[in-house]
Amino acid sequence: MRFDVLTLFPGIFTSFLEESLLKSAIDGGLVQVSLHNIRDWADDRHGTVDDTPYGGGAGMVMKVDKVVPCVEDVQAAAPTAGRLLLMSPQGRRLDQPLVEELAREERLLLLCGRYEGFDERVVEILRPQEVSLGDFILNGGEVAAMAVIESVIRLIPGVLGDADSARYDSFSSGNRILEEPQYTRPREYRGHEVPEILLSGDHGRVDQWRAQQRVLRTRERRPDLLEKSQENTAAPAEKRSGAGENNK
Ligand code: SAM
Repeated sequence: MRFDVLTLFPGIFTSFLEESLLKSAIDGGLVQVSLHNIRDWADDRHGTVDDTPYGGGAGMVMKVDKVVPCVEDVQAAAPTAGRLLLMSPQGRRLDQPLVEELAREERLLLLCGRYEGFDERVVEILRPQEVSLGDFILNGGEVAAMAVIESVIRLIPGVLGDADSARYDSFSSGNRILEEPQYTRPREYRGHEVPEILLSGDHGRVDQWRAQQRVLRTRERRPDLLEKSQENTAAPAEKRSGAGENNK
């Protein structure tokens, strides 16, 4: 899968691309990430890509006549134009169903704003999918773009060491509720014990316990998810013995 990130600050992505699962996915040829500096589309010696807002007001606005050609050139640089996402607090909230939808694309272009955001004609002309990380304001779209990349690559076959890891994550299509609590060695720490059932070796009972924990935890923390979910305590436990992400 190919990601193209369009940003005024490509340097923000340097270490992000060079660590952990994303680095392995890139090295393994499963993922490609190309960075494009929007400032390269400026046509004056100051590299101007923003201007004051019409009508007055605070801050600067990213210019339509610089951003649109930048996106169009990047789209044309590969055989498929790809799906364009514009990072915006006013967009559709990023959630797992959207991530699953995005993971089916061959190519995603992630357009990151800065300052007060984009001239509205960028949206009118390019018709991007606007994506928000949540109801808060970031300085720029880069962190939101990273969240899209991280969440999407987890669903690309081969990126995780164990495919079940993503399948059973909280919110995932195999489990639209929260994941159960997890434990690893030591068996006891400062008086806190691992639940006995997990040490029993009885995979059937472990699966059943996990299914119950998912429901209990979701009822306690996110009852809204439970209302939407088909899963309940009576549902047959799904087989997941031995599942574990081995290369977090
Ligand atoms: N003035 C804009 C508003 O009130 O809607 C906010 C501009 S923000 C300071 C600059 C850029 O950061 C935005 O263009 C967008 O790309 C990015 N950004 C900020 N908050 C975001 C969020 N919650 N989700 C996604 N992108 C965000």
